[in-house]
Amino acid sequence: MDPRVQQFMAMIKARNAGENEFHQAVQEVAESLIPFIEENPKYKHAKILERIAEPERTIIFRVPWLDDKGEVQINRGFRIEMNSAIGPYKGGLRFHPTVNLGILKFLAFEQVFKNSLTTLPMGGGKGGSDFDPKGKSDNEVMRFCQSFMTELFRHIGADTDVPAGDIGVGGREIGFLFGQYKRLKNEFTGVLTGKGIEWGGSLIRPEATGYGATYFAQEMLSTRGDSITGKTVCVSGSGNVSQYATEKITQLGGKVVTASDSNGFIYDPKGIDSDKLKYIMDLKNVKRGRIKEYAEKFGVEYFEDKRPWIIKCDIAMPCATQNEINEEEAKLLVKNGCYVVSEGANMPSTPEAVEVFLKAKILYGPGKAANAGGVATSGLEMTQNSMRLPWSREEVDNRLHTIMKNIHATCVKFGTREDGYINYVDGANIGGFVKVANAMIAQGVV
Ligand code: NDP
Repeated sequence: MDPRVQQFMAMIKARNAGENEFHQAVQEVAESLIPFIEENPKYKHAKILERIAEPERTIIFRVPWLDDKGEVQINRGFRIEMNSAIGPYKGGLRFHPTVNLGILKFLAFEQVFKNSLTTLPMGGGKGGSDFDPKGKSDNEVMRFCQSFMTELFRHIGADTDVPAGDIGVGGREIGFLFGQYKRLKNEFTGVLTGKGIEWGGSLIRPEATGYGATYFAQEMLSTRGDSITGKTVCVSGSGNVSQYATEKITQLGGKVVTASDSNGFIYDPKGIDSDKLKYIMDLKNVKRGRIKEYAEKFGVEYFEDKRPWIIKCDIAMPCATQNEINEEEAKLLVKNGCYVVSEGANMPSTPEAVEVFLKAKILYGPGKAANAGGVATSGLEMTQNSMRLPWSREEVDNRLHTIMKNIHATCVKFGTREDGYINYVDGANIGGFVKVANAMIAQGVV
C-alpha cells in the first residue's frame, strides 16, 4: 500500500475504531484521491480529505415502540449528516438488523461522492435503524416508523436533510414516516423522497436505481461497441433495485437468470421474463415471502445459502448488499467469461474482488457511479415538489438516462488510463470529489 494511504488510514482507524465498512469505503477513495491531491496541493492545504471523512453531525437515538402483544421493544435510530457543501444532506434510511454506526457512515461517505456525480445540488447523508421489518405486522411497522420519526423530525427538513428509502424501507415505510412528520410539523413539504405518486412522489423513482444501473452497464458496453442485447445476466437480490434492473435488462434484450435473497438464490436458465418478474414483485412487495417459492412455482433450481456468482454470465449486477462478491467469486465470474459488473448495491464487491476486476480489465462500474440513478431521481422528486408540478414518466426517464450518461462521461474523463482502460473507480472517486472539495474551500473552514 502507498505509505501516504497507510498513514491516512491509520488515523481513520484510530478515530473510528471497529467501523470496518467505513474503513473499507474510505480506503478505496483515499487510494484514488491521495495521488490526485498530491498533484493539486490546494486540497492538501485545506485538509479536504481529512474533513470529508468526518461527519458534520451524527445523531443517535432511542426508538421505543409497542409490538402487537403490547410488549415494549427498543431499537436504535441513526442519522449521519455527512456533508452539506453542495446541498442539503440527502441519502436513504436502512432498516435491517445488521445496521450499526460503521455501516451507516460508510453509506453516508459514499453518498457524498455519488450525489456530487449526479450534478444535482445534494449533500450526503444516511440513516436507519437495527429494526427488522421481516415478520412484523403492518401495524408494528407503522408504530415503529412513527416512533422513529418522532425523534428524527427535528433534525430534517426539505432544505436541511431529505431522507429516502434503502434496504427495508420502501413505499410502505416512507408513507408511515411522512404521515408522522406531517403531523408533527403541520407542514406538507418534500422532506422525504420515494413518496407515493398521489402525495408528492415522482414517477420512475421506484424504478430509478435498477434502471440507472442498467443504463450505466449499457454506457460501459458502448465504449467497446457492444450492447446488452443477447447477454446473459446474473442479478442478486429480489428487492427494489434488483426488480427494476431485471425489468430494464429484459426490455433491452438481455436475459436475467438469477434472483436471490438472504437465504439463497434461484437459477432460471430460460430467463426471468415479465410474467415471472410480476410474480417476484407480488411475492416480495405484497406477500413478503422468500425467493425459494419461485423455484417451487416455476420448477427451477434453488441454491440454499449460496450467491448467484457461481452461474456463468456475461454481466453481473449485484443488487442486494455490501460485500456480497468476494475475491473467489470475482475470480470465478471472470473465469466464466463475465466482462461487465454494474453495481446496483452499495459496495457489494470486497476490495480484493475489485482488484480482480481491475486486473482483468473488465468493465467494472462501482456503486457510487452505477447506482446513482436512485438518488438522482430523488433529486428530481425534490425539484417537482419545489415547483409543485409533476413531470411525466418520459420526462423523468429521459432526465435519468441523461444523468447516467453524464456520470459515465465524468468517469471516463477522470478514469481513463494511458493504455485506454477506463478505471471507473478512480473516475467516480475523483469526479465526485472535485465539486465538493471546491465548494468546501469556497465556504472556508467550516
Ligand atoms: P430491498 O430491501 O428492497 O432489497 C434488498 C434485497 O437484498 C433483498 O432481496 C434482501 O433479501 C437482500 N439482502 C439484504 N441484506 C442482505 C444480506 N445481508 N445478505 C444477502 N441478501 C441481502 O433494498 P434495495 O433493493 O432498496 O437495496 C439493495 C441495495 O441497493 C443496497 O445495497 C442499497 O444500499 C442499494 N441502493 C438502493 C437504492 C434505492 O433507491 N433503493 C439506491 C442506491 C443503492 P431479504 O429479503 O432476505 O432481506
